[in-house]
Amino acid sequence: MGCAWLVSALQFALGAAALAAGQQSPRAPNRQPVGHRTASQVWRLKSHPSVPLTFDDLPAAGGLSPDDTRLRIASALANELKARHIKGVYGFVTAADLQGDPDSQQALGAWVNAGMNIGNHTWSHPSLNRDTAAEFERQIALDEPGLSQYAGKRDWRRFRYPYLEEGNTPRKRDAVRGWLHAHGYRIADVTMNFEDDDWSDPYGRCLVQHDQAGIAWLKQS
Ligand SMILES: [Zn+2]
Repeated sequence: MGCAWLVSALQFALGAAALAAGQQSPRAPNRQPVGHRTASQVWRLKSHPSVPLTFDDLPAAGGLSPDDTRLRIASALANELKARHIKGVYGFVTAADLQGDPDSQQALGAWVNAGMNIGNHTWSHPSLNRDTAAEFERQIALDEPGLSQYAGKRDWRRFRYPYLEEGNTPRKRDAVRGWLHAHGYRIADVTMNFEDDDWSDPYGRCLVQHDQAGIAWLKQS
């Protein structure tokens, strides 16, 4: 699963405003550029940024290691997040991957049953930089029946752009944003992104070759 770290716009704005005020105040100790503030200076502020965790490409991304299942991966991840009391987690779903795949269907069910949220990542992960706005909107709408089936009464109207590509022309970008707004969506921006799906395929290859040194290196990296 792709992993992305999301800072909500409101919380980020509060944190940034507090940092800026501290920097400009004549009473602020050690007046330094924001980027040079120490951790203790940041944590003394009343408001600080919080970072919701989101995961893209549910229920499946990348190759699957031998003898592993999507259900095991999703369950392990969701149970770990739950055990650590991490709230507000979203997984962004491409429902095409659910078709005819009981393992993927069970994986998404386990994710939701563990209390995790889901949102829209289009039906089959197209790029808005390549597709037309109309085709992209069709892809978003096509994802919705699967979302409402799994989320039940919970709100799934959050949208994450595949590849984080929001359109290669202002007209296309505005058209899709307008469509999302008209259909009640909130756009889930990304502030920090970790490409862990670049990790899973090399891990699978090392596993097949019993390359313990390679696996150790991957874990370290
Ligand atoms: Zn994606």
